[in-house]
Amino acid sequence: MPKSSCYIDQKSVIKDGSFKRSCDSKTIQRFRCKNCGKRFSGATLKLEIYQKKRRINPQLFKLLSSGVSMRRSAQIFGVHRITIKRKLKYLALKSRLNQEALLKKLELSKVTNMQFDDLITKENSKLKPLSVTLAVDANRRFILGAEVSQIPAFGHLSEMAKIKYGPRKCHHKKGINKLFKKIVNTIATTAIVGSDEHRNYREFIKHYFPRADYYQFKSERSSIAGQGELKKVKFDPLFAINHTCAMLRANVNRLIRKTWCTTKDPARLKDHLDIFIDYFNSEIAYKNRELTPIKWSS
Ligand SMILES: [Zn+2]
Repeated sequence: MPKSSCYIDQKSVIKDGSFKRSCDSKTIQRFRCKNCGKRFSGATLKLEIYQKKRRINPQLFKLLSSGVSMRRSAQIFGVHRITIKRKLKYLALKSRLNQEALLKKLELSKVTNMQFDDLITKENSKLKPLSVTLAVDANRRFILGAEVSQIPAFGHLSEMAKIKYGPRKCHHKKGINKLFKKIVNTIATTAIVGSDEHRNYREFIKHYFPRADYYQFKSERSSIAGQGELKKVKFDPLFAINHTCAMLRANVNRLIRKTWCTTKDPARLKDHLDIFIDYFNSEIAYKNRELTPIKWSS
């Protein structure tokens, strides 16, 4: 709609010619407001406005959710890598809108079995780790949300990191807060909630889900094929969240272990995750038989 103070109702808008959009050969209707004379078209309010390579959007959405790097996508489509960079932001925006709609739907059919965990990755260097807090619906396998937060380097790297990059603040609790705030309305009050034994978790569960049945499980040794997330035990009570983390590592290119693709900007990692979440929720969760209901044992 045109940027004017004029209130546009259906009566004051008339058709005003059309144009052929060159990039996808579609004919687009143009409109005019009879009161103020401003003109606009069927494309004005779309997220894709001014895009010149819209044809590649659906395929790019799938590739970026299937382990293909941004640079290789640019090569496959024969477009500039900066086009892909811009499209990452656009696809992320679109995916976030879809995810918001899904969460709204879930408020009517609440999650009764929620699992959450953190996945460690890095920004450029292992000296600058990032934590991705992830929550899933363990029964229907929807990914409810993910938040990226910076954490200080740990273990034998912490000393070196301090020397090279100075102190690094921990925003992990902020990230958990942001995630739980977003999904709190989709979780049933008496839901079962599961996680590993991370020391930060319990206070958040108490605050956001006071009546939930909260279980913490010891972390198990991982199997080699599962990207460090699938566990080497016959029965893993946290299978849903661990399997989702493994899916993330395998399909979001920059999360693969020992990859040479890295995140340069945590905001772009968040974008990429949001794209994958939308793809996973719309294409894989619920549709894939292997992924549907996982029984909880106590
Ligand atoms: Zn007007």
